[in-house]
Amino acid sequence: KELPADPDKNNTRRKVFEACYSFATPRIPSNPTLIHVADEVAEMLELERDTNAEEFLHTFSGKTVYPKTSPYAMCYGGHQFGNWAGQLGDGRAINLAEIRANGKRWALQLKGAGATPYSRTADGLAVLRSSIREHLCSEAMHYLGVPTTRSLSIALTGDEVLRDMLYDGNQAYEKGAVVCRVAPSFIRFGNFQLFAARKDVVNLQKLTDYTIKYFHKDIQTEGKEKYVAFFQKVVNSTLEMVLNWQRVGFVHGVMNTDNMSILGLTIDYGPYGWLEGYDANWTPNTTDSQHNRYAFGNQPGIALWNLVQLANALFPLIEEAKPLEDILENYQTNFDQKYVRMMADKIGLAEINAEEETLIEDLEKNLQLTETDMTIFFRELPRIQKKNTPQEAFQKIHKSFYKPLELAGSVTDAWTTWFTKYLERLQKEVDRDETRKFKMYEVNPKFVLRNYMAQLAIDAANKGNYEVLNELYEVLKRPYNEQPEFEKWYAKRPEWARNKVGCSM
Ligand code: AMP
Ligand code: MG
Ligand code: MG
Repeated sequence: KELPADPDKNNTRRKVFEACYSFATPRIPSNPTLIHVADEVAEMLELERDTNAEEFLHTFSGKTVYPKTSPYAMCYGGHQFGNWAGQLGDGRAINLAEIRANGKRWALQLKGAGATPYSRTADGLAVLRSSIREHLCSEAMHYLGVPTTRSLSIALTGDEVLRDMLYDGNQAYEKGAVVCRVAPSFIRFGNFQLFAARKDVVNLQKLTDYTIKYFHKDIQTEGKEKYVAFFQKVVNSTLEMVLNWQRVGFVHGVMNTDNMSILGLTIDYGPYGWLEGYDANWTPNTTDSQHNRYAFGNQPGIALWNLVQLANALFPLIEEAKPLEDILENYQTNFDQKYVRMMADKIGLAEINAEEETLIEDLEKNLQLTETDMTIFFRELPRIQKKNTPQEAFQKIHKSFYKPLELAGSVTDAWTTWFTKYLERLQKEVDRDETRKFKMYEVNPKFVLRNYMAQLAIDAANKGNYEVLNELYEVLKRPYNEQPEFEKWYAKRPEWARNKVGCSM
């Protein structure tokens, strides 16, 4: 058997048994330069005064290992697209250290800093394109109020990385980059699954005890009850995460169990995308277009499927199916209830009864009749006033349609019917129009990281211009604010960007 945590810091690719991680040394970049630091993350880590120092650049590009630290890559497995894939692990991520800042523990992890024991056939590197997508999106998600890993910085390595191009199938060199991700922990469902699959109950228990000890201090029970309580926590936090994805129109794209954080944080920003036209069947992942397994509307169900896999992995610690099954069954009921409440908030209803739920169901149907921009629709809806006629209300959301509608037609009829019912229902709202509008603004963002926006930042950055990157970072910090100075980013996807979304590697 391999030595688990190799004291020689040997990055050789291999199977690693009976270990949660292996020591690994970041690759030394040839000419590292910082291109963006998320100032609030630096502050959160109490590093704000260090960001211009050479030490900061060297630490967060992988050039030097910080004194007295032992960087490591984590060992995990996972189900990829529904199939058990065995050992995966951090193939291009290396945890630098865990630090305590402002009273909290944070793990700092470089992504793209070279091969680890878990790199299999790949290079362990990341390109500027995927790094900008990860950095901007994780910060955007945080400011949207969606539980997520954070991103401290992006550094160019000065090295070139060979990648397959998505659109023409050729290979090309791209600029290499390293992102520093930040989270209380990067432990995934797959860490538990791999021990369970290998029948290594000793380490399964150690990992679970560790996770509970450091991240769920409030669990007071012991033995089996403790593990059941832990599973309940994971189910709750996963539910909240996915509910928020549905609220803002985020599609993760690779909800494999190795990409599910045990803390319910959005992790692994690869082929993710944002709904532009509202479409339950849409996925940004071009490798998933056959089955649409990870499409927008499937995310709540896939989260449940993944939780079932985690339940199977934890079973040896509990040895009783019933408590796990009960929790899983409740997930569906809880999700449905919370989903209705969330959608009621989005359309500005303080209360919603079972009969009124058809308003939500009919809305979801209407949004898919013709290409309708999700973000713009929900941001314009609050402008509707109780005194409006259905026609006036309809006019107010008209700019969310990608193609102007014929005045007479079945789509217009469906909307007129919906607005008639909606306006009837709005009359019962106690709040004044203005109050309702501001409450709706708090759950319906004006600015999300549309795929074309990230692409513009990437295209400019590839030419050495970071203005778009800097600007988007600023806009996305206040996604619920009006920000008239950034109105140009409140716009439908331009036609050139149709079907051209970023990709993961
Ligand atoms: P993902 O689909 O991004 O979750 O990646 C699946 C697995 O492939 C994980 O074990 C990753 O660490 C690994 N991986 C992805 N990209 C690379 C890369 N460029 N080099 C090495 N490993 C990678
Ligand atoms: Mg992954
Ligand atoms: Mg990935």
